[in-house]
Amino acid sequence: MTLTEKDSQYLWHPYTQHKTAQTPIAISRGEGALLWDENGKEYIDAIASWWVNPFGHSNKFIADAVYKQLTTLEHVLFGGFTHEPAIKVAEKLIEILPKNQQKIFFSDNGSTAVEVAIKVALQYFFNKNEKRTTIIAFENAFHGDTFAAMAASGISFYTQAFQGMFIDVVRIPVPIKGQEQASFDALTNVIQNHNCAGFIFEPLVQGAAGMVMYEPEALAKLIQICAANKVLTIADEVMTGFGKTGKTFAMDYVSEEPDMICLSKALTGGTIPMAITTFTQDIFDAFYDDDINKALFHGHTFTANPTGCAAVLASIDLLQTAEMQANIERINASHLEFQKKIENHSKVITARTLGVIFAVEIKSDSEESYYGSMRTKLYNFFIENGVVLRPVGNIVYILPPYIMTNEQLQKVYKIIEEAIEMV
Ligand SMILES: *Cc1c(COP(=O)(O)O)cnc(C)c1O
Repeated sequence: MTLTEKDSQYLWHPYTQHKTAQTPIAISRGEGALLWDENGKEYIDAIASWWVNPFGHSNKFIADAVYKQLTTLEHVLFGGFTHEPAIKVAEKLIEILPKNQQKIFFSDNGSTAVEVAIKVALQYFFNKNEKRTTIIAFENAFHGDTFAAMAASGISFYTQAFQGMFIDVVRIPVPIKGQEQASFDALTNVIQNHNCAGFIFEPLVQGAAGMVMYEPEALAKLIQICAANKVLTIADEVMTGFGKTGKTFAMDYVSEEPDMICLSKALTGGTIPMAITTFTQDIFDAFYDDDINKALFHGHTFTANPTGCAAVLASIDLLQTAEMQANIERINASHLEFQKKIENHSKVITARTLGVIFAVEIKSDSEESYYGSMRTKLYNFFIENGVVLRPVGNIVYILPPYIMTNEQLQKVYKIIEEAIEMV
């Protein structure tokens, strides 16, 4: 049996209707921006394997750090114990995060990073004896698939089976260019009419919605409105973190600081599942008490796994090299050039770029759903041509590993141009 045949016998894939889905491609090797399947066919990974892999597949620098940690201390429980890798990660993050972030809490995926932030927002007010139970989120947000994260997410077909079982979430429009005031007004209105504990947002770029972008000034204003009303703000940087927007964090573009930040995906350079939620001292202090019931009773078995921490430290080292920063700038300049080239094409609605993120919306005759027919046609075309891209409806985005070469990048652009002509 081939790998794909065995797969269909035993495995259940994410976001997959197995009755109608195509068989998955079995990948046997990865190096740099390239992947090879079991038959030796080569693919350019133009979305960094779901946005996790900035430094390339099978990165030797991270692998060496991980091997060293695995053979020194692979894991130890974090309840009642601590270790140097976790402390070093905390020190490093506190150095590079927005200045008000002072406490680091570990978990193991983006959804749990969000889950922790939302639970902390709710318990913060519980501990202070204030009744605030509503969470504010953007329309079409994506914050993950666990229950609170899913409640905060606004992409309906992910969540429709669970309606009526969620925590209280109220949605406001994204302040896209020209429509900022509607978003500010909606936020003010929600805060006046609900007991709001927190506001969660993807800063500057809504990833899963199709790389929807908005300006830092608008986000600063929303955070100011929250701060004036003591509503805690949660920046979900699970996608945007670690260089994707051109700065280390998307919040580095924003004049206001959030109360909490969620990190995962590129945190370990796409090697080991790990996540972190960071907090201000004020939030930590609301849980610091003689009363044990005020503690945060949340934890995961693999919390602060030392091997994961070693991967984080190696990844941040790589990100901070002049070479990697130059790569990010190179890709950004290249995207901007490609954007200019195609944005006036008759079949293009709009194209946009921030950092290494590029997205183009293609005109279509019918209303394009997330997994509609155009999406399938585009996806298959890209795969046939050896490029991994996962369009969102009629939106094709590129989120390459930073080490992608110019030649590979040009090939990705060319395939996208051909796809635009084809559909
Ligand atoms: C991917 C993502 C998540 C969820 O992360 P998982 O590791 O898939 O649970 C949460 N928030 C944002 C913004 C994401 O892009």
